[in-house]
Amino acid sequence: MPQELIDTHCHIDFNIFDHDRDEILERCHQANITKIVVPSVEYSGWAKLAALNSSVVHFFKAFGLHPAFLNNHQDAHLDALDDLLNKDRPAALGEIGLDFYLKGLDKQRQNYLFVAQLKLAKKYQLPVILHVRKAHDQVLECLESNLIQGGIVHAFNGSLDHARRYNMLGFKLGIGGAVTWPQARKIRALAKDLPSNSIVLETDAPDMAVESLRSRSKDKNRPPRNSPEHLIEILDTLARIRKSTPEEIAIRSTENALSILNTNS
Ligand SMILES: [Zn+2]
Repeated sequence: MPQELIDTHCHIDFNIFDHDRDEILERCHQANITKIVVPSVEYSGWAKLAALNSSVVHFFKAFGLHPAFLNNHQDAHLDALDDLLNKDRPAALGEIGLDFYLKGLDKQRQNYLFVAQLKLAKKYQLPVILHVRKAHDQVLECLESNLIQGGIVHAFNGSLDHARRYNMLGFKLGIGGAVTWPQARKIRALAKDLPSNSIVLETDAPDMAVESLRSRSKDKNRPPRNSPEHLIEILDTLARIRKSTPEEIAIRSTENALSILNTNS
């Protein structure tokens, strides 16, 4: 694979990769996955992410407060985020958003933290990495009244109309492991129809294992650990679904990702 690829969403900083992170990154390098966007989820993980380094893959780091970790966030973490962004401009702010799928997460509090972080994105002119579940209309409303320069909607699972509205607001849409699952009909239909200037690739590792890992896994209750080298399976599947070539998709998706991120980071 001669064309370089970017995994636009991968939690390679998580402890689950501590014992073999370097080997995985070496395999990414061999597959020409040259850059990885690593979003953070909560304050306690920022220092580890900030210190993360590799000699073979470039990390685009993003700092932010993830809605699913709501109960760990404090108002003081917003001030800490402001300080961090002021000192050193990362590739993006994230991941942030609204998760109305998970039970027991206060919607108002989610909304408050989301809008506060959109204001920081505006202040520091940074793109954002969005996590959105069962809340596309609410997120789009927030974005339409807090205009920022755009970003990436990770693991996009909305409608074509949502896609069009995100695109108008300067957002690219992340296509990940779900596209490789034969039963994921809605995502596969979307992946076929989205305009090619809006697609970026992601693994969401360690989550969202690709089909080849899932089908080999013995324990159906415990999903296998995904890892960024499986971006190639996502690329190949997408090429088949769109009746395109892996080279063409690689060129466009890499171009799309670089057009969004703060690449000076
Ligand atoms: Zn994530």
